[in-house]
Amino acid sequence: MKKFIPLSIPNFEGNEKKYVNEALDQGWVSTGGAYITKLEQEMANFLHVHNVAACQSGTSAIHLSLIEAGVKPGNIVLVPPLTFIAAVNPVKYQYATPVFIDCDDSLCMDSVKLCEFCETQCKWDGEFLRFKGEILKAIVVVHVFGNMANMESIMDTANRYNLKVIEDATEALGTYYTEGRFAGKYAGTIGDFGAYSGNKIITTGGGGAVTANDPEMVDHIRFLSTQAKTNPHYYIHDEIGYNYRMTNLQAAIGVAQMEKLSEFIRRKQKNFELYKAEFEGFKYGALMPFREGINSNKWFYSFNINRNHIKASMKEIIVALEEKGIQTRAIWGLINEQKPYVNEFIYNLEKAPYYADRILNIPSSTQITREEIIYVANEVKKLLRSLANG
Ligand SMILES: *Cc1c(COP(=O)(O)O)cnc(C)c1O
Repeated sequence: MKKFIPLSIPNFEGNEKKYVNEALDQGWVSTGGAYITKLEQEMANFLHVHNVAACQSGTSAIHLSLIEAGVKPGNIVLVPPLTFIAAVNPVKYQYATPVFIDCDDSLCMDSVKLCEFCETQCKWDGEFLRFKGEILKAIVVVHVFGNMANMESIMDTANRYNLKVIEDATEALGTYYTEGRFAGKYAGTIGDFGAYSGNKIITTGGGGAVTANDPEMVDHIRFLSTQAKTNPHYYIHDEIGYNYRMTNLQAAIGVAQMEKLSEFIRRKQKNFELYKAEFEGFKYGALMPFREGINSNKWFYSFNINRNHIKASMKEIIVALEEKGIQTRAIWGLINEQKPYVNEFIYNLEKAPYYADRILNIPSSTQITREEIIYVANEVKKLLRSLANG
């Protein structure tokens, strides 16, 4: 049998089938049902927050957060260039204008450049910061691959300039600070809003969730996600709503996945250490570390190819590893270079293009075995040695 080690596959070792069958047997398959409420409660308990609204995707979670943050057409929203495009598209759904701020070596937003942008490129009007005359309303901060952005510094800037912070914690469910002002705080619970995805370290097949530091805003988000229906008996609506609610079938899977989340994180952390040991001292690349002072969920592993020695294209590397039965992927293309975004403002992008050309994501499923990790590391090293010049 040919070996195949996937990049990232879901893990259904728990009660998923049992709960889905229960939901089916009870006939609760749509956007009402006990599993939805249960998932919201489980997530709120896990994150130590008061209120979580389950919704249809991480993307809709970000969109609802932007709406609740009051982002209006023409407003400026600061966003990262090196991430999944779903973090930025909802800015466009609101007809707002993204401005791309560079990342730092954590691959998350560079908090120094963020502050610098606000101080040198914008004007304070007494209530809002303005960029080219337009109100700067919000920042979308992505906690990339389960790492954590420098939230202390980002929150300082946001508070100084009256900016709403939407934490895109889709990749970082379970990551929390162990040190500093936010010690004990989970990714997504520090800013004004936190968005999660049912398509990452836990899966619901498709789904998401939102929390906010104001529990009433979460209630309002839940209301917006169910077509803004104001009355249980009549079709009366006083706002534009959305069909963004999670279904009970998805939530049934989600409840089972939440039971396993701590176990998934333990495995991800252990596997990261295995990879780290295998790549120790390797000349042609290194495993990207996670930030100090946090307990990361270590959702996705990034291998940083040493471009001083390796000139081969990402495609060449990916195809060669595929032939060895190893599925890998290049990090995202820069969002500011994607067709719908080529005319948007960018601010001093250096690290984002640098890492865009270097990061290879390597297999990270919770089911991966020790032997498979050693095999992957050896094949990556063998390949890069063979491609190296000098
Ligand atoms: C996955 C992801 C999203 C979107 O989540 P979906 O549940 O797939 O809609 C948004 N932002 C980032 C950074 C992501 O990785």
